[in-house]
Amino acid sequence: MNLVERDLKVIWHPYTQMQTAAPPIPIVKGEGVVLFDENGEAYIDAVSSWWVNIHGHSHPYIAQKVAEQLLKLEHVIFAGFTHEGAVELAERLLAILPNNQSKVFYSDNGSTAIEVAIKMCLQYWHNQGMPRTKVLALKNAYHGDTFGAMAVSGRSAFTNVFESLLFEVEFIDLPDANNIESIKSQVSSIKTDLACFIFEPLLQGSGGMLMYEAEYLDQLMAHCRAENVLTIADEVLTGFGRTGKRFACDHLQQQPDIMCFSKGLTGGTMALGVTTCTQAIYDAFLSDDKLKTLFHGHSFTANPIACAAALASMDLFLSPETMENIQRIEERHARFALKIGHHPKLKEVRQIGTIIAMEWETGGQTSYFSNLRDKLYQHFLKAGIILRPLGNVLYILPPYCISNEQLDYIYTEIEAALEIF
Ligand code: PMP
Repeated sequence: MNLVERDLKVIWHPYTQMQTAAPPIPIVKGEGVVLFDENGEAYIDAVSSWWVNIHGHSHPYIAQKVAEQLLKLEHVIFAGFTHEGAVELAERLLAILPNNQSKVFYSDNGSTAIEVAIKMCLQYWHNQGMPRTKVLALKNAYHGDTFGAMAVSGRSAFTNVFESLLFEVEFIDLPDANNIESIKSQVSSIKTDLACFIFEPLLQGSGGMLMYEAEYLDQLMAHCRAENVLTIADEVLTGFGRTGKRFACDHLQQQPDIMCFSKGLTGGTMALGVTTCTQAIYDAFLSDDKLKTLFHGHSFTANPIACAAALASMDLFLSPETMENIQRIEERHARFALKIGHHPKLKEVRQIGTIIAMEWETGGQTSYFSNLRDKLYQHFLKAGIILRPLGNVLYILPPYCISNEQLDYIYTEIEAALEIF
């Protein structure tokens, strides 16, 4: 049996209809932006392998730091114990986050970072004897696949089956000039029940690479602060340069109370989640009463290998070269957006930082299940490019080390696809 046959015999893949999906492609090596399959075929990873890889695959510097760490300490229970990597990473992360962030809570993926954030908010109120149970979230949001993260995500085909089991959430439209005042009134009318407002700052990824303006998010955050409602910025996707600045919150005047990170945190090398919070939130859990403890922790909390990968990724991220690359991609995307912006097949081209999204005109509703998706996906795979459209929204979200030639090749293939589909 070859690898694909063995795979299909024993493996259930994520987000995959196993009856109809094409067989998986066995990848044997990654180098820079390129993945190689067992036949030596090369694929440009234009989606950074589910948005995690920011410095290219198998980066030698990260690999070396991980290897060194492996020979020193691979894992240690993080309750009652600590280690250098976890402390250094927390110190370095807090140094580059909005200055109200003062404590780091580790977990091991984006969804768990969100679960921790929600529990922090709900228990923050509970611990002070003022329980609040409602959460405010954005329509079309995506915060992960665990139950709490699903509950605060927009209702969609992903959540429908579980609808009756999800806790109650107030959903609002993306804030804009027209609706901001009515959203503010809505917040004021439920403020004593409202534990927190959770949002993906400026960019809703899985919702279809939907983008919105900092100005109205700022206004809403300021209103939440005035009304004593906590705010959670989910930077799982937007963190570490994706939006052109280090963090999407760097585009804002307001500072969130809680921030969530994963994906690019380790350069895509290891699974790691981080939830950061203000001193005030942390303080609400300090007590002689053990019942006020945050009872949350995962076996692999602050895994030393993951922390070593994150520290190495941070070194690369903070190098001038990476910021130059981010700007270079941003400029080239902007030029391409101008070039194709008025293409009759496209409803809209939008861009933030290193992400450009092209929404195909389908005459109907935007849908994750648009059959255009499969056609485009296969078209680009044949051209040696991994692009996974979200329904009729095609987007490029590359590792920052992608070359101008590789970008130009992707743009050319997209223009070709626009002629066909
Ligand atoms: N939040 C956002 C904004 C995301 O894009 C994702 C993953 N796509 C998550 C949370 C969940 O992260 P994970 O897949 O690591 O659980």
